[in-house]
Amino acid sequence: MEDRTFKAKLVRYIDAGFPIIYINTFEEDKVDSLIPEISSGKEVYEWNETNGYIDFETKTPLQEDCTLERMLDQLKTPDLLDRKILIFKDITSYLDEPRIVSKVKGLARMINQGVDATVIIVSSVLVIPKDIEKYVTILEMDYLNTDEIKTIIRGFVKDNLNQQVDEKLIEEFALAFKGLTEFEILNLLALSYADDGDLTRKDLRLIFDQKQQMIKKAGILEMIPLKETIDDIGGLENLKAWFIKKAKVYKNMNNAKKYGVDMPKGVLIAGVPGCGKSLNAKAAANLFEVPLLRLDMGRLMGKYVGESEGNLRSAIALAEAISPCVLWIDELEKAFAGIGGSGGGAEVTTRLFGNFLTWMQEKESPTFVVATANDITKLPPELLRKGRFDEIFYVGLPNKEEREKIFNIHIKKRRPQDLKNIRVKELVSITEGFSGADIEGVVKDAIESAFAEDKTSIQTADVIDAIKDTHSLSEIMKDSLEKMTKEYENRKFKSASK
Ligand code: ATP
Repeated sequence: MEDRTFKAKLVRYIDAGFPIIYINTFEEDKVDSLIPEISSGKEVYEWNETNGYIDFETKTPLQEDCTLERMLDQLKTPDLLDRKILIFKDITSYLDEPRIVSKVKGLARMINQGVDATVIIVSSVLVIPKDIEKYVTILEMDYLNTDEIKTIIRGFVKDNLNQQVDEKLIEEFALAFKGLTEFEILNLLALSYADDGDLTRKDLRLIFDQKQQMIKKAGILEMIPLKETIDDIGGLENLKAWFIKKAKVYKNMNNAKKYGVDMPKGVLIAGVPGCGKSLNAKAAANLFEVPLLRLDMGRLMGKYVGESEGNLRSAIALAEAISPCVLWIDELEKAFAGIGGSGGGAEVTTRLFGNFLTWMQEKESPTFVVATANDITKLPPELLRKGRFDEIFYVGLPNKEEREKIFNIHIKKRRPQDLKNIRVKELVSITEGFSGADIEGVVKDAIESAFAEDKTSIQTADVIDAIKDTHSLSEIMKDSLEKMTKEYENRKFKSASK
């Protein structure tokens, strides 16, 4: 099998004569430690803001106070450039200067024409001027695997703590750190240690919170706190039973595999707004006992060429690094509308879609995808074909039994003491066409009004008043709901409800 490690990729790109390799990472030190292993006898020079133009190996200046521009000038002929690797750090702020960009482009062209050299840009931010875009190949650093993370933790324990840390706790820390860089992990270890001079299970909470922020800063995924459980969902019994079965497989992956069970891939939940699709994504992560990452498809679509693909790649790489996890892809139809059309935008979407399908098909990591969509007519048929997802469910408006359960859940959540006063069956009979969100809204309104009127409890009549004041979803979306229901019936999707 092809070696897909970061180092192997870097070597391949250098050998293949890629002129500019852009390593997008916070971990300069890690790149530095790899360079001697991949330079294969070439001279390696570096430019950085602090030291200027230096010999990479000895770190001695090749010229005092050399600016980036002057360094570039000194390499402008093929014989000066030949058999060199040039490492650029801290240069992103210079990449909006046309003179610098044009000189970097000059180097790239010489390399393209056969000069044996490579430019490597190392930066935590990605800035690629249009003029050099076609010469640049982006390379992301690999995420650390669990064993590497454990080695970092053990190293930290050895250097800082007087006593041993339980191996089971190290495992738990390692799992919590997945998806973070070495730098981030060491910072979090130091922070966990600083409060009481120890690493304990209660530090996991802190790590989780910090990790949530770090993921947020990276900008493409959001880590959602897990509050909702399967018991917060009224009805949708088929879907819930399906999740419970998958959870058993997912939580016993090794045994399941040995038994011959396929790794669960994911599920597409389509249907009516406000009827529990998001709720199910959240409850699934809780059931699987893994973190929930939300990928917002609207945000993923960047405005620069190639940006959306880069974003999707990064999102998937991060999710895989954090896995086991549930990756919730919200509003799937937003990303893939316009597939197969013509024009720049449509091409990007089509490519993006291709990448996504390939990933779904080949995925080996325990990243369980829960995709949700309101309008499946906008989704490309390839996605709905068997084999992409383990199953496709549609969620419709809740039926009588389901409405009863949803009323009970929401009343119990807020006013458990009033449940006995309320004739839920009566409410159910007058709420045909209400979505779960409508029912929740009605309960909230009734409670608010009762409070405003200084009532000691809420009664059936209060809820009925709120119902009368509500325009249900089926009233508001009558036509499109009918169309949608027909569509699901035609396609014979599984119903989430019993
Ligand atoms: P959208 O497509 O608009 O995002 P959705 O189908 O994802 O809608 P949710 O966000 O899951 O809908 O539901 C909105 C709110 O309505 C939930 O937070 C929940 O409180 C309530 N709700 C919806 N369906 C149910 C249900 N079956 N049981 C209990 N509560 C429900």
